[in-house]
Amino acid sequence: MSGIQPQPGIMDIDLYVGGTSTVEGVKDVTKLSSNENPLGCSDVVKDAHAKTGLNLHRYPSTEHEELRAAIGEVHGLDPARIICGVGSDEVLQFITHAYAGVGDEIVYPQHGFSMYPILANMVGATPVVAVERERVVDVDAILAACTEKTKIVFVANPANPTGTMIGGNDMARLADGLPEGCILVHDGAYTEYVQGFDGGAGLVEARSNVVMTRTFSKIYGLGGLRVGWGYASQEIIDVLNRVRQPFNLSPIQTALAEAAVRDQEWVTKCRAENARLRSWLAEALMEIGVPSDTSCTNFILARFADQAEAEACDDYLKSQGLIVRRVTGYGLPNCLRITVGDEPSCRRVAHAIGQFKGGAR
Ligand code: PMP
Repeated sequence: MSGIQPQPGIMDIDLYVGGTSTVEGVKDVTKLSSNENPLGCSDVVKDAHAKTGLNLHRYPSTEHEELRAAIGEVHGLDPARIICGVGSDEVLQFITHAYAGVGDEIVYPQHGFSMYPILANMVGATPVVAVERERVVDVDAILAACTEKTKIVFVANPANPTGTMIGGNDMARLADGLPEGCILVHDGAYTEYVQGFDGGAGLVEARSNVVMTRTFSKIYGLGGLRVGWGYASQEIIDVLNRVRQPFNLSPIQTALAEAAVRDQEWVTKCRAENARLRSWLAEALMEIGVPSDTSCTNFILARFADQAEAEACDDYLKSQGLIVRRVTGYGLPNCLRITVGDEPSCRRVAHAIGQFKGGAR
């Protein structure tokens, strides 16, 4: 043995499993496990990609001025208070790195996004789970779980993998009730699927202890580009920029994200198409005895009788070339998370689940 040891907490981090788009022995595979936009990205982004005669021998800008200016312009936000990262995952990492460490606690809801405990363990902080009420974030439970050691509270609104959402008043009550020195992260990965929702931007303006995070991975159809951003007070952004690698985004990433944010017509179109197919899929599943909560996102959390049935259905879907997401690790062993794909994918998955429920396994 070399005696080389990782930092405390590192070995508590589970290796990430997921993201696969293949099923052994099956040719025609439909992936509905990562909440990707089935329509892809807009033509404006494809054009921008074709045109980027980029000087790749040069390091990129360290400040992402043009992307931040575009985001600020489109959303009516101060560009100086925006920070960009490699997906919103990296922005969540900046926050955790800068504000929590060994001996601190990080609180998140029972069925919260899988990155939250990973981030806590990464910095040696203790992950603390607050119970939910029927798969909906419970603000009182979060407040009750907080102590003077709590440095960060993560809440995705709408939430992954439940798809549910709480109101702006509840988020404000949460921000107001947190211990002194604790940051509320309003994770807005699915904001754009909710028409007219500001993703927590107003809350950031009104409360100095709130950070909003957003992503290009979902409605913009750019999961592979890896760009996200955060919005907070100038004081917090100045701190976060100190833990950001100066060249964290390539010029390809920033140029395409800028083109994407300027094309809000695409966002509107994708939101409408997602809403239409989401209702269709939820109703189709309900009719075959698979209920789900009203989703505010681009996925549905399908509920089965128990873990055995959910797993058997997942196995059956896989045998049919359909990849959905088991969410046992999120404390939802009797559920499967199904991304709202394009119309043929929605029909295909509903049909296969119908066959499974009808005993054709
Ligand atoms: N927050 C939530 C709630 C998510 O579901 C995701 C993606 N699954 C992310 C953050 C991170 O997204 P990205 O890093 O692709 O921006």
